Amino acid sequence: TLSDKLDSVFKKLRGHGRLTEQHIKETMREIRLVLLEADVNFRVVKSFIAKVSERAASQEILKSLTPAQQVIKVVREELSRLMGEGEDNTLNLSVKPPVPIMLCGLQGAGKTTTCGKLALKLRREKRNPMLVPADVYRPAAIAQLKTLGRQLDVEVFDSQAGQDPVDICDQALRYAELNGFDTIILDTAGRLHVDTELMGELQRIVNKVQPQEILFVADAMTGQDAVTVAASFDEQLPLTGVILTKLDGDARGGAALSIREVTGKPIKLVGMGEKLDALEQFYPDRMAQRILGMGDVLSLIEKAQDAVNADDAAAMEQQLRKDGFTLETFLEQMQMVKKMGSMDSLLKMIPGAGKALKKAQGAQLPENEMKKIEAIIRSMTPRERLNHKILNGSRRLRIAKGSGTRVQDVNQLLKRFVEAQKMMKKMQKMGPKGLKGMFGQ
Ligand code: GDP
Ligand code: MG
Repeated sequence: TLSDKLDSVFKKLRGHGRLTEQHIKETMREIRLVLLEADVNFRVVKSFIAKVSERAASQEILKSLTPAQQVIKVVREELSRLMGEGEDNTLNLSVKPPVPIMLCGLQGAGKTTTCGKLALKLRREKRNPMLVPADVYRPAAIAQLKTLGRQLDVEVFDSQAGQDPVDICDQALRYAELNGFDTIILDTAGRLHVDTELMGELQRIVNKVQPQEILFVADAMTGQDAVTVAASFDEQLPLTGVILTKLDGDARGGAALSIREVTGKPIKLVGMGEKLDALEQFYPDRMAQRILGMGDVLSLIEKAQDAVNADDAAAMEQQLRKDGFTLETFLEQMQMVKKMGSMDSLLKMIPGAGKALKKAQGAQLPENEMKKIEAIIRSMTPRERLNHKILNGSRRLRIAKGSGTRVQDVNQLLKRFVEAQKMMKKMQKMGPKGLKGMFGQ
């Protein structure tokens, strides 16, 4: 991945006590190769390298006590800037409702799924959205959106296959106005390639309903292709932003960088999985950090806070303060982890902690394994749950019997718990952001 490669470039850099201009030249050459390989557009790479080299070669950096770190810092800063650091990338919805939001992009980019995710996000923000199927060419597309609507309990505008998409959007807007929906999300058609007929249709929708946000949905996995497509959509439609999907896969970070630079439009949201709550705010600096392999602890904490209901979190924190990390907290924590959804994408964000956490919390445990653990802990007395150290042989046997498991299972669980406990201690050392942040404020 891009991160791994940049990592090794930086390792070399760190090896040098004193940096010379020659070192910097060599490093920049390597960074250039890494970025090109990661699908970053060559023009973007060129201007990026020029900027970083200029800053890195300054006397101030060469003479500083930690030149390698300084260079890394410059790379990170320029990378963030390239991804839109400092500009407003929030959805701009504060206009007279109903506010139309239009999603467009190629087939398979993730438009329909993202429409659903967006509806959920907006509803969590106390808005009242309606979904509008404007992809009339494939009956399956309407059905897909209707299914999402049912799942989310969000109304889907009733459109028929074969109806003119421009009419659908126009009627939906009026329907929303009459029925108190403050936002309508337009799921438009896509094609396998950019084509003029589709663009014409999208332009007519834009002219008719004047969407407040016109968001280009790009599949991050498609790399350089996504950049070309983005440029062409941007030329023909007044895009207001970009949604990057499938960033949970092993997408090469390059697409994010290039799309932002080529269109000049902010990346507003990112799709981090197939689940409907896997839509996140895009943070340029965190993305830069992540690309540089420094881990994205902030996003992780935010996600944890989101998934965990505030009351749960408060209760848990209070208990943690009172009793420390006990088997009871362990069980609750595992249940929260389960709620958080795709653990893999989460774990990738913690530098180094991924493996340990996974092992300790059993994030990858299948459902029946989770049930077993729950049964074991439920079979313990409150005192045992508070202090696992009193669990001698006979107690373990009793618990195994009570929970319908074997003593080995109880032993294994306790081992896992001890590991998790160690992990928690480490997190506590990370300061207030560590432990407290993990469980809400
Ligand atoms: P559309 O043709 O643009 O409407 O694309 P769809 O919404 O039908 O999505 C195409 C496929 O991509 C579906 O299988 C989705 O589940 C999947 N998908 C969409 N967004 C994401 C994402 O953020 N992560 C992952 N892993 N899959 C996604
Ligand atoms: Mg679709």
